[in-house]
Amino acid sequence: MKLKFSLAFIGILAVLNVFAWQEIFILSSHNYVRVAVLDIGQGDSIFIETPSMRHILIDGGPDSKVLEKLQKFIPFWHRSLDVVVLTHPDADHVTGLLYALQKYRVGYIVWTGIVREGGNYQKWTELLSASEKKGTKVIKAQLNQKIVNGDVAIDILHPFEDLTGRIFGKQGNDTGIVSRLLFGKNSFLFTADISSNVEEQMIDKKIDMASDVLKIGHHGSKYSTSEAFLKAVNPKIAVISVGKKNPYGHPTSEVLQKLQNFGIKIFRTDQNGTIEMLSDGENIKIE
Ligand SMILES: [Zn+2]
Repeated sequence: MKLKFSLAFIGILAVLNVFAWQEIFILSSHNYVRVAVLDIGQGDSIFIETPSMRHILIDGGPDSKVLEKLQKFIPFWHRSLDVVVLTHPDADHVTGLLYALQKYRVGYIVWTGIVREGGNYQKWTELLSASEKKGTKVIKAQLNQKIVNGDVAIDILHPFEDLTGRIFGKQGNDTGIVSRLLFGKNSFLFTADISSNVEEQMIDKKIDMASDVLKIGHHGSKYSTSEAFLKAVNPKIAVISVGKKNPYGHPTSEVLQKLQNFGIKIFRTDQNGTIEMLSDGENIKIE
């Protein structure tokens, strides 16, 4: 690939925040959005590349494997991520981000600001402060915020309000950031580990969740992905991020059966490896 440098000014807008990007050098652009659900074992890590080569990482999986998986998409000399989203600070989502924050300069970190015990929470907050000192902007996610880059928009659909400082002990799943990426006619819904409890609240609030691709909630746990939720999202493709022979029995036969009943195509990281999807705004190609 011929590397062509160009100076670009790109904006990320939020309803409450207008961010000013600094001028930076980027690679030449393309006309598709790449969404890769990384094969990082039991956990979640989703890499997004916009047409203007902006890099977004949603969660980091359970260990340092994310760094190796990212190498396929980010050239070794490119040491920055534009946006990092932590859906909730559980070990299988946050741990890989600890490594990512040490390797990459990060433009924006989007998370909920909740307080929890144990896991890698302490380390996360330490790295957050260190990143802020180096210029990273930290945004607390809530409904109606939007991350925009050119024709790509990522809408925050949950949590419904600012959760900063709220203590959740070890029950953080239902605080998770749910977001929907829109590009042309294509859409992707990322549901973190939310349970059907939150799914129901989102339906009650009449939040538009219709999406071509659904990242199945909580690795296919039977406490997520209700029938009502599947009806509201109406996806053609389901992606399950799950580790081989994990001790939780994920994905559960209950969820797999529901997806089959709805005629939804299933892709799993434990069987298919990293699931790479390319959207040109009309069609989604799966690699
Ligand atoms: Zn999880």
